[in-house]
Amino acid sequence: MQLHALFIPAPVRGFDSEHTVFDLTVQGEAIGDISACAPGTPAQGTLLPGLVDLHLHLDKTYTVRETGPANGDLFCAIDMIARHRATWTAADLHTRMERALTEAWSSGTRALRTHLDWMAPERPVSIDVFLALRAAWSGRLEMQWVSLTALDIFDDVAVGRSIAAQVQAAGGILGCFAYRNADLARKLQGVFALAQAFDLDLDFHVDEGLDIDATGLDEIARLTVQFGWQGRVTCGHACSLSVQPDDQALQTLERVAQARIGLVALPTTNLYLQGAWATTPVARGITRLIEARRAGVRLCLASDNVADPFYPYGSYDLLESWALGVQVAHLAPAQDWLDIVTVAPARAMQLAWDGRIAPGCPADFVVLNACDGLDLMNTQARTRRVCRLGQWI
Ligand SMILES: [Zn+2]
Repeated sequence: MQLHALFIPAPVRGFDSEHTVFDLTVQGEAIGDISACAPGTPAQGTLLPGLVDLHLHLDKTYTVRETGPANGDLFCAIDMIARHRATWTAADLHTRMERALTEAWSSGTRALRTHLDWMAPERPVSIDVFLALRAAWSGRLEMQWVSLTALDIFDDVAVGRSIAAQVQAAGGILGCFAYRNADLARKLQGVFALAQAFDLDLDFHVDEGLDIDATGLDEIARLTVQFGWQGRVTCGHACSLSVQPDDQALQTLERVAQARIGLVALPTTNLYLQGAWATTPVARGITRLIEARRAGVRLCLASDNVADPFYPYGSYDLLESWALGVQVAHLAPAQDWLDIVTVAPARAMQLAWDGRIAPGCPADFVVLNACDGLDLMNTQARTRRVCRLGQWI
């Protein structure tokens, strides 16, 4: 296969070149040669590696028509899904999750990580459904899962150990939701102790709100260093960083960088859940992406909720969430921020290939109609073809 005159943005390139437009060959399941086009050659499209969606909720997805939307109230959404969760069956979960995987795959996603609610001591039915789907989708989607437990549940030490042991046995990542809990530092320390005891990576929902005193991220960064868990911790949301004083927020981000924490911005859900609803929202739910990058944080962006009470809209097209993030957080030029949905989450998931395009890398890529960075922000120009292991899907 020959590909002509494609723009390969710098953050997804694994080779040195002062050029931006390239011809490529595909040999079998890998990229073969890459050669720069003559200066001034107009690009005919944009080549990106397969996308990596680091934060999803496949168990909650496509429930909003039954639960109703929470209209911006996170804790109302938590109540709505708790009531609906009681009705979940393996068959229902399988249908909804498979629909999500199909949409993600056809949009060009090659790997994803989902949180799965785990709110009682017993192993939820969603785990086995997920594991069966992961086996069925092997070779098309690489998939990881995280247990999502309210932080206070871990306060019962026996329950916490039981959950952690079961997560370990089923090959998961230990996760929890923490927001301004009483005695936060001690409870988070308990979660790190479990991670250490059971040798588990960690993935937190943290500071998902606009209260200035939500400082869980800072505490998690301290504990990550204290426990020697650098590089093994992911934190999603961190919206409250945006309302904290600059000095405080920047100090937290420096600690996050030192702890090698992957920080995940989730613009769709947090623009929906945070900020006012009775009036035009002025404060908005988005973490400090620009400052995080300057601080050297491993920064990612993911889709989060799709069609559930937390976020009633959306799709599994990660580039749509990315484009929203570009607009909302003023990420410019847009093409310089493509690593947050490709290379950075691939590294956070410790995938075999980090997604940088180079001779010999897997031929797992997306070709967009977009011809440059400005085009990337045009919905029509995000129309794409997806190639997996050298074959168009
Ligand atoms: Zn989430």
